[in-house]
Amino acid sequence: MSAERPAVLALGSNMGDRMATLQGAVDALLGPQAAPGLTPVAVSPVYETAPVGGPEQGAYLNAVLVAACTLAPRELLARTQEVEKRFHRVREVRWGPRTLDVDIIALGEEVSGDPELTLPHPRAHERAFVLRPWLDADPGAVLPGHGPVADLLAAVAGQEADRRGDLHLALPGREG
Ligand code: ATP
Ligand code: CA
Ligand code: CA
Repeated sequence: MSAERPAVLALGSNMGDRMATLQGAVDALLGPQAAPGLTPVAVSPVYETAPVGGPEQGAYLNAVLVAACTLAPRELLARTQEVEKRFHRVREVRWGPRTLDVDIIALGEEVSGDPELTLPHPRAHERAFVLRPWLDADPGAVLPGHGPVADLLAAVAGQEADRRGDLHLALPGREG
């Protein structure tokens, strides 16, 4: 256990019942049954985005979750990977379709080049489907080493991320 700091998690799903998977992942990470160490702070709106790279595949639903975290980086990775497994994630091809992807975008000010857990996430700054929902969830967000998320988002303005106003994720323990 360490001092509490914000963990920013990016969730994506492009197979099966995508909303059920995303809500299931939020609940598994932050719900009453979840192991201690992560406390809900904010959940973003849901965005639909075309897949970038990889093989031909369906559109993603993406969202960002902010939590107060007392876990060490490796513990947080183990937690997110456990949740991916629970949703029967199949990893056949890199950047291929998946029921659930949980990326750790940032953990406080932590900076690490470890290939198993690179912090901040090495591609987050160039992805509208991460930056857009993150900015919604935290209008003052700053990506360590890269600057304000609002500025980073402006730099990738050409990327499409369609807000799905008809879809909402509930944050456990809060109204919503
Ligand atoms: P991308 O990382 O470009 O979004 P991806 O999510 O499809 O691609 P995965 O197959 O899910 O990639 O993950 C590959 C490996 O990345 C994982 O085994 C994990 O150990 C490692 N990894 C490194 N940094 C991170 C991070 N910040 N968050 C999650 N996984 C990470
Ligand atoms: Ca990813
Ligand atoms: Ca991943």
